[in-house]
Amino acid sequence: MSVFGKAVKYLNEGNVHVVICILNTDYVIRLIKEDGKTVKDMEIIRNSVSFVNLVMIPLLFGYYQYKEEIIKLSSEDILRLSESLFNVRPKHRRVKSTFSQIAIKAPNLTIISYNSENYCLEIKPKEGFLASNFNKYSKCYYCLKQVLKLQENEVENISGYCPLDLFSGERKRMRKAILNLIKNPQNNLKLFKDGNIVYNETSNVNNFEMLLRNIAPYNSLNVFLDLIIKILLSDGISDIVIKESSEEIDINHNTEKCNNDRHKLPANCFLNQLLTLQKLSENIDLDSATKNDDFQYVFKLLNDMRELNINLINMDDRKKFLETMDPLYLAMISAVAKDCSIMICMSPQTHDLYPSITINNKSLSYKISVTDLEPKSIKSLTKRKTTEKKLIELYEKK
Ligand SMILES: [Zn+2]
Repeated sequence: MSVFGKAVKYLNEGNVHVVICILNTDYVIRLIKEDGKTVKDMEIIRNSVSFVNLVMIPLLFGYYQYKEEIIKLSSEDILRLSESLFNVRPKHRRVKSTFSQIAIKAPNLTIISYNSENYCLEIKPKEGFLASNFNKYSKCYYCLKQVLKLQENEVENISGYCPLDLFSGERKRMRKAILNLIKNPQNNLKLFKDGNIVYNETSNVNNFEMLLRNIAPYNSLNVFLDLIIKILLSDGISDIVIKESSEEIDINHNTEKCNNDRHKLPANCFLNQLLTLQKLSENIDLDSATKNDDFQYVFKLLNDMRELNINLINMDDRKKFLETMDPLYLAMISAVAKDCSIMICMSPQTHDLYPSITINNKSLSYKISVTDLEPKSIKSLTKRKTTEKKLIELYEKK
């Protein structure tokens, strides 16, 4: 399989995209599926890419950490790709097997560099605060939803993970959160080695520690957790030195209520940025919002930004944006922030372009980035409202 004469490999796919990696480069291509009826509107693709590049990334990082690019593939490349991808794709996904010539090129977030050893932990953290609607139950959206998922046979076991623990900023609770994700990953945790998944929900939990034992700089789960937590609490650009490793903890003490103790996150850390964006949904009146068209808001939002000359890499502009923009835009940004995935990469070979993290006198390069930042449809707000109602009914029944 090749694109532009370069060898490619199938990585994974969702409802809208098939992701392929261009071998011996740091890039992936997201092919856009077509259902045969309509060619995807170029304007919608362009707006979606601008939303990621000009809104979500600068709001999360304060700078253009990376940029997605629209590319055009030849009709021959597309034809050959859809033929050769057919057999490697999961059967249930093959119903859509034609792709648009327009595709998206993005950095491969599971690696630091293709010519080094790379490990990447993907965490889909979900909503990290107790939404006001659930205040009186002291249960967060994620934990309530686990009960619903169990009832609807979507999961086999309720996860012990609570996003409030991960976002607490307290090392012990963050360790508990990640250990619970490793124990029962569902779609919230994956480990990649050189871009390939080596641990996910289908893996045996005992394998996680085994995997780490064979990886020179980590050697133990304990050291690995120290590294991940320090990176989550960092600004993502500074070098980090861990002076002493944490004690191992036992996680068998789940409580009836989610622990909503006040956050102790450092102001400039990545998790704090993500949480700030997630909380933007707290001030919106959903009834008026849901009358809008599904994706029209993306066009309007980008247009408003152009007219007001807002560039979100400037701190003053970010402040102005969050204070003055239509609450609907903010609610949609919040919806993306609640469903994105954090990618934490480490490589034992140090690279000048990336900051380092040092533990036990060994240094690694690290990179923290975020994926799944595409705009969501306005319908997702209505869906959330319906689910909230269901969750409350279910909780009150018990
Ligand atoms: Zn919870």
